[in-house]
Amino acid sequence: MTRERLYLFDTTLRDGAQTNGVDFTLADKLVIARMLDELGVDYIEAGYPGANPIDTGFFAEHRSARAKITAFGMTRRPGRSASNDPGLAALLAAEADAICFVAKSWDHQVRTALETTEEENLASIRDSVRAAKAKGREVLLDCEHFFDGYKAKPAYALACAEAAYDEGARWVVLCDTNGGALPHEVEAIVGEVCKVIPGDHVGIHAHNDTEQAVANSFAAVRAGARQIQGTLNGLGERCGNANLVSIIPTLKLKPEFAQKFNIGVSDEKLHSLVHASHTLDEMLNRAPNRHAPYVGESAFATKAGIHASAIMKEPKTYEHVAPEAVGNRRKLLVSDQAGRSNVLAELERIGLTVDKDDPRVGRLLDEVKEREAIGYAYEAADASFELLARRMLGKVPHYFEVEKFDVNVEQRISAKGDRVTVSQAVVKVKVGDDVLISASEGIGPVNALDLALRKDLGKYQSYITGLELTDYRVRILNAGTEAVTRVLIESQDETGEHWTTIGVSPNIIDASFQALMDSIVYKLVKSGAPA
Ligand SMILES: [Zn+2]
Repeated sequence: MTRERLYLFDTTLRDGAQTNGVDFTLADKLVIARMLDELGVDYIEAGYPGANPIDTGFFAEHRSARAKITAFGMTRRPGRSASNDPGLAALLAAEADAICFVAKSWDHQVRTALETTEEENLASIRDSVRAAKAKGREVLLDCEHFFDGYKAKPAYALACAEAAYDEGARWVVLCDTNGGALPHEVEAIVGEVCKVIPGDHVGIHAHNDTEQAVANSFAAVRAGARQIQGTLNGLGERCGNANLVSIIPTLKLKPEFAQKFNIGVSDEKLHSLVHASHTLDEMLNRAPNRHAPYVGESAFATKAGIHASAIMKEPKTYEHVAPEAVGNRRKLLVSDQAGRSNVLAELERIGLTVDKDDPRVGRLLDEVKEREAIGYAYEAADASFELLARRMLGKVPHYFEVEKFDVNVEQRISAKGDRVTVSQAVVKVKVGDDVLISASEGIGPVNALDLALRKDLGKYQSYITGLELTDYRVRILNAGTEAVTRVLIESQDETGEHWTTIGVSPNIIDASFQALMDSIVYKLVKSGAPA
């Protein structure tokens, strides 16, 4: 049976960037775009070229992608010609495969917000689509407030959509801008639109203000729309946009959609969904939502008890899809047996062979549980988990010992009269019989400590010269009664391998020290440094 193509349009970098508390840097945007491209979305809407330096920089710097990189902006302003509108000119000049225009489609808004006539708004849509087509771009039109507009004056809302389609826009996207539409309304209205514009040219852009953005997206697809717009983890203004992390597996795994539609995300890439979702959270320094459908840590977790034994016998009883399909895994809480098998699976992945009845497996499991209870998160810190496991098995040599360290932060007025803050660290390390003392200044106390630690490790120094810290993230957790600090450090070396280590302590310097030490020791183990 031939399946119809359904297109995914990601707007994490545009609509998602409107989320309260989200500020993507240019580097973040480039990393997320690469991740989305690898995942297999069809369009990546990256921002408004010309509106701010980051978005403008993105279009100048992004490398080619499989997905269509899309620039977003307004149709020409009323009362201006297309050739005399600087906003439109910046949009047309951007290095983009596609341009998504936004235009009002609610007569009331055209008059009050745009302060123009219905006819001038239609002319602006036609002129803008024509100008972008002439530049060789694929064109999309986001019809803002389409559903409210349709309810108020269906003929005008439709006229806006048709104006773009007739002028050659590839897609007309129906936006539920304030997120107030309900699934049965979306289904009925999209059905009407598809009578005049073929469904394979119609998209849906839903917001989550009644927590039905995902349901509204599927309602639109049932009614004929063939493009879904959304964001990773449902990021977006107010209550967010339709969550692609829920939409993608539903399209892939639920027969109602899977038998009818093809999407650009392969079965193999679907396995990386948990990873993509968590990577975005890590970049935003947010704790992943444990209860997120499909990808949350609790999405396939069952409390020990009657369910646990049933689930071991017949997983399908309590699991609507196989957790592995999206890169998640089954968790049986408070069940030693399941914990053991998770630990054994991890050990096997690392390449450590241990007999399944080895008592050290149970000790490692206890240690992990105890540490996780006080704030460690080994899922996010693969290298620290590996060290913990190797130590338990007696496979980490005693390379060196930090006998003491001292970090100080000084703020003073410089000779030039500026207020400056200087950090210094002194580290006393014992390597074999040698005692080495190193001091370093840094841009902050952790940086100074890192530099001093790695300045002189005696006979091990040659193994760590290629070591580099690439990311440093801090989160304050409330574990039990007191707040603790969790530090995650990402490192890489000359081979390009990346790893993450963790430290937890009430003291941020101590937490950082643990994570730094793990990173150095991991590098020594990995490089096969002799004891
Ligand atoms: Zn939106």
